[in-house]
Amino acid sequence: MQSAMLFDLPALQGAPVAPMTKKPCRPRKVHASVPLEPSTTVPDELIADADWIVVNSSGGKDSQAMLTHVVRRAKALGMLDKVVVVHADLGDIEWGGTKTLAEEQAHLAGVRRIEVVKAKGADLLGRVLVRFGKLKAKAEREAIDAGLDPAAVKVAPAWPSSSARWCTSDVKRGPVWTLFTRLTAELSHLGRPVRILNCMGQRAAESAPRAKLAEVEIDRSASNGKRHVTVWRPIHGWSDAEVWREIARSGLPYHPAYDWGMRRLSCSFCVLGCEADVVLAARLRPKKAAEYAAMEVQVGADFKHGLSMAEIIRRAAELEKEQGPVRRPPTGTAMAGFIGRSATALYLRRRDLVRNRLTLAS
Ligand code: SF4
Repeated sequence: MQSAMLFDLPALQGAPVAPMTKKPCRPRKVHASVPLEPSTTVPDELIADADWIVVNSSGGKDSQAMLTHVVRRAKALGMLDKVVVVHADLGDIEWGGTKTLAEEQAHLAGVRRIEVVKAKGADLLGRVLVRFGKLKAKAEREAIDAGLDPAAVKVAPAWPSSSARWCTSDVKRGPVWTLFTRLTAELSHLGRPVRILNCMGQRAAESAPRAKLAEVEIDRSASNGKRHVTVWRPIHGWSDAEVWREIARSGLPYHPAYDWGMRRLSCSFCVLGCEADVVLAARLRPKKAAEYAAMEVQVGADFKHGLSMAEIIRRAAELEKEQGPVRRPPTGTAMAGFIGRSATALYLRRRDLVRNRLTLAS
């Protein structure tokens, strides 16, 4: 963590914004072989048609419910060997144990090929700083072009947000595409574009933007003359309770962060996370919260739109004062809230059996 101020931030605050000069957009060329629409939306046909079935796993509850659901279908069709689980490792930004858990879930589900990919260079926090430097340089250039004082420009927020979600493309999508390149090369002997079925655990119930996503669609940006990528969201229509029921059925372990009360996994401090989640995360990871707060000062903008990490830390400290340190809830708390205590008790027994079976077999 860098502690020194890199830029003269006070000079930037409240200063005029340089007018933006719009560059003409170059239309992205998509290879003529890439279809506009998927040839089918029937799950078993999608599985049968694919050369590779790539299951994206964050290690979170939706990923793991999707994983066991897809594996079950692929197994029934005798096509489990096409399944590859990929986890984008976010390093210290994600909850501890997430990468190991994602690998364990894939093993327990019976998947043989598990790939962990990681973005090159800085982690998410480091990227915020790099982005700030670029935004500042751009704003200064534009101010000079417009005859304004470059020292008085206001820099656009460097943090990711719902409208500038570069974090996902930088630390998740980009590294997963490098796997697509490798998988495509492995089947180059086919002499035609390799068909990749990219399975994502996004659900309509999570948010209005996710509700608008199609269950099946061609990913034209990820496709080219060598590979055609179809996105499949197998649990798009599932409710939270259905997700938890699938986890209970599978007996696979889920991340303890849910029992602590987190609603999402992945980055401990997600720019899109709800206030309760980020405050809880600040109580559970105070050192990481302090790093985010220091970065806010460096880049002169709040971590979340309208909610700074400094304020999140203040609210976390208030709760610590009122309630004392957060106590670890009993294992199964998150699941019990959706499927009841007795079904959760059965799940916990099944989970231990599933884990023991793997330990004995390996
Ligand atoms: S979890 Fe949140 S902050 Fe992290 S990459 Fe995804 S959207 Fe961005």
